[in-house]
Amino acid sequence: MSRTALVIGGGIAGPATALALQKAGIDAVVYEAHAEGADGAGVFLTLGSNGIDALKTIGADQQITRTGIATPQITLHSSKGKRLGVSRISSAAGTPSRTIRRAGLYRALYQEAVRRDITVHHGKCLVSAEDTEEAVRATFADGTTATADLLIGCDGVHSAVRKAVDPEAPAPSYAGLISLGGYTRDVTVDAEPGSYTMIFGRRAFFGYAVAADGEVWWFANLPRADEPARGEVERIGSDEWRRTLVEAFADDAGPAARIIEATSSDNIMTASPVHLLRRLPAWHRGRMIVLGDAAHAPSPSSGQGASLAVEDAVTLARCLRDTPSHAEAFTTFVDLRRRRVEKIIKQAARINNSKAAGPLGRLFLDNVMPFILKAAASSRYTEEVFGHHLDWDAVVWPAGVDGDS
Ligand SMILES: Cc1cc2nc3c(=O)[nH]c(=O)nc-3n(C[C@H](O)[C@H](O)[C@H](O)COP(=O)(O)OP(=O)(O)OC[C@H]3O[C@@H](n4cnc5c(N)ncnc54)[C@H](O)[C@@H]3O)c2cc1C
Repeated sequence: MSRTALVIGGGIAGPATALALQKAGIDAVVYEAHAEGADGAGVFLTLGSNGIDALKTIGADQQITRTGIATPQITLHSSKGKRLGVSRISSAAGTPSRTIRRAGLYRALYQEAVRRDITVHHGKCLVSAEDTEEAVRATFADGTTATADLLIGCDGVHSAVRKAVDPEAPAPSYAGLISLGGYTRDVTVDAEPGSYTMIFGRRAFFGYAVAADGEVWWFANLPRADEPARGEVERIGSDEWRRTLVEAFADDAGPAARIIEATSSDNIMTASPVHLLRRLPAWHRGRMIVLGDAAHAPSPSSGQGASLAVEDAVTLARCLRDTPSHAEAFTTFVDLRRRRVEKIIKQAARINNSKAAGPLGRLFLDNVMPFILKAAASSRYTEEVFGHHLDWDAVVWPAGVDGDS
């Protein structure tokens, strides 16, 4: 049984994996490419009831449920201000989903790992990984190396570990959307604290949540057909984005343009193109495996990327704890995870398309969406996604062996 692991990536999956491995009796060290923590990374995300539940199994939920905004549901509006319906995004019984600043989630998980004596190295960008059969060796951009029994790639959608596992692995695809957002206290909106509203605008998609102290958190998805060059949209300044977005939402009902206009430049976060990874044929090879966005990146519309990453972390640790070899553990892990993540990715891709709907699509949204939402609100699907529960103590049986897992 292998007992040491190199965890590549210190975002969400990385620290969660190290915490879960520690609980399973495996020593893990985390290597993160950024020189510092991930402060300023992204805007905010919603951690589903299922993600919170998975964090609970490794005792890491409390810091998270103390911050952010409880988000049991999202209200959807059309560009004309018509209320399309309400989408339930929490399990009926569990902790409600929570909208959290992304950097805050990164920080909380990092701090929890450090508190439990897990070493997290910053400024360690993996450039290659070699499986020597007896061990696996990682080489970093600064020329240093590290060796362990296992290497776990938690290095996000543009994963280097994925390429080490399979040089022919598909590259992530560009989703046709640029995402950015910000925070402002300098606007008044007609919405209760704790509410989360999304608007299918004529030219772009908008979402805003109101924190308990009245601060408005917002994001926008702006369709752009051609894939931007690496770093291109990140270099565009806040003032230019404000102008572009105010123009994009100018003809829509609702407060989008007003909220953006009221946001100061230093509270508009860096923009990024959205990439997806729908299906990865090989998740592991030898002593290396990928999980989280490195293995499956759903569109942001799923609201599930972070939650699935935490579920992966817990599941992999249980597999390594209960199966006799890492090879069996990896096969069992993929067996347990692939169907679920690919189903969620497929469902989210449909919503993603509606964010960039043309005039016909918009007609469809306005007229058909209320019925879809009504069906979805009580659907098994919501419970299947947000009510997913992982039992840490249940024994995982190797793939192909009958038993409860
Ligand atoms: C606009 C947007 C909105 C989203 N909204 C939501 C949402 O509401 N709900 C939700 O659940 N999910 C959401 N997601 C998805 C969510 O952010 C990801 O699914 C989640 O962050 C995946 O976690 P991860 O740890 O796998 O990857 P990441 O969080 O990307 O972490 C990867 C880490 O690896 C590091 N790294 C990369 N390469 C290397 C290397 N070579 N060596 C060492 N370290 C490396 C990176 O610096 C990073 O810290 C959204 C994503 C986007 C883009």
